[in-house]
Amino acid sequence: MIVLVVNAGSSSLKYQLINMEDEGVLARGLVERIGAGGGSSLTSEVTGKGKTVLKAAIPDHRVAMQMVFSALTDKENGALTDLSQISAIGHRVLHGGSVFSDSVVIDKRVTDTIQAVSHLGPLHNPANLMGIEAAMHLMPNAPQVAVFDTAFHQTMPKHVHVYALPYSLYSEYGIRRYGFHGTSHKYVSSRAKKILAAEGLPVEKQRIITCHLGNGVSFTAVKAGKSFDTSMGLTPVEGLVMGTRCGDIDPAIMSYVQSKLGYTAKQADDMINKRSGLLGISGVSNDMRDIEKKTAEGHELSQLALDIFCYRARKYIGAYAAAMEGLDAIVFTAGIGEHSPAVRSKICQGLEFLGIKVDPEKNQNCRGECNISAGTEGIRVLVIPTNEELAIARETAQVVCGETGK
Ligand code: ADP
Repeated sequence: MIVLVVNAGSSSLKYQLINMEDEGVLARGLVERIGAGGGSSLTSEVTGKGKTVLKAAIPDHRVAMQMVFSALTDKENGALTDLSQISAIGHRVLHGGSVFSDSVVIDKRVTDTIQAVSHLGPLHNPANLMGIEAAMHLMPNAPQVAVFDTAFHQTMPKHVHVYALPYSLYSEYGIRRYGFHGTSHKYVSSRAKKILAAEGLPVEKQRIITCHLGNGVSFTAVKAGKSFDTSMGLTPVEGLVMGTRCGDIDPAIMSYVQSKLGYTAKQADDMINKRSGLLGISGVSNDMRDIEKKTAEGHELSQLALDIFCYRARKYIGAYAAAMEGLDAIVFTAGIGEHSPAVRSKICQGLEFLGIKVDPEKNQNCRGECNISAGTEGIRVLVIPTNEELAIARETAQVVCGETGK
């Protein structure tokens, strides 16, 4: 079975074509600057055949999708002989509100609901819908599946997902913690779940913290295999320090910058989403590689950004260990979590009292999936690479034919 995974943004569209027999990537690519009125292009890569860049006018997502399909079936450089080889299409959708706790086959009711919860993800949901509509228009007979970033977190109990605001904001307007990166947290926690189960710890007793440290950062407390709490909230800005997002702050700061500094609501929102985090503190970059490099050169504000980033992460680990009444494993994943031994080690420093101890050599030499804990006792510290596209493809195959396709 072959699955096409689509991640449509407002002006971009990323895709991967995956053969579920061996979970190998047949092709991948990116359409950029859709509707920008110039400079649009499709970069596509077919495994074994190399990369091609096609520059063209790409006014909308339908044209973008049509270009992707043409590239996939190109006689010389394509990955397929015919589009009918694609058994299903899996779409990444940011926000499923409180409606979707699982992936679903897309029909009119589903697109209407994604539209209805668009106010919760105003930047992403309309773009995701454009991708869905384009794919449905061009391939009306292939089943299309929506995989939501929020779905995994729908198991959070009420006392965890309701904010301490007037209750009517929750009951009438759906203002609550939703959480994001659900596909990634589900993927790495199910791998960790298997590792712990193989060591004799039954799933019902497992308490895992999954730490997704990428450009966006979120941690999830996974209790008995289910999301129990997560750091992102109504929107992805809550929680940990990120590349450009601030994470937790005193909410009164938002009214302060508006009333005292004259920011508009939009400027205040841009500040917490686009001008804060590693970039805001360091003034240098949102990219952890730059922050580490600058810190090594003695740049004080980069050092401060790194200190705040790791301190906040440590605080969340302590909070989630308490929330779950204990801890069996921490999982590091995504760009920083998978590739920065320095950040992993700095986050875990001082957590020995909880039974968390990192082996410096294992940490330094970790490539791919590793257990970097010192000794065999105590809490497992695992590095598990995430793969959101593969996770979406597996979900899609499962929804369409009730199996992983493997
Ligand atoms: P996204 O959330 O955009 O998918 P990624 O998961 O790719 O992001 O993570 C991007 C982050 O990972 C960036 O901050 C980048 O600097 C960081 N990163 C990638 N490789 C390394 C590395 N070798 N050392 C430190 N940070 C890294």
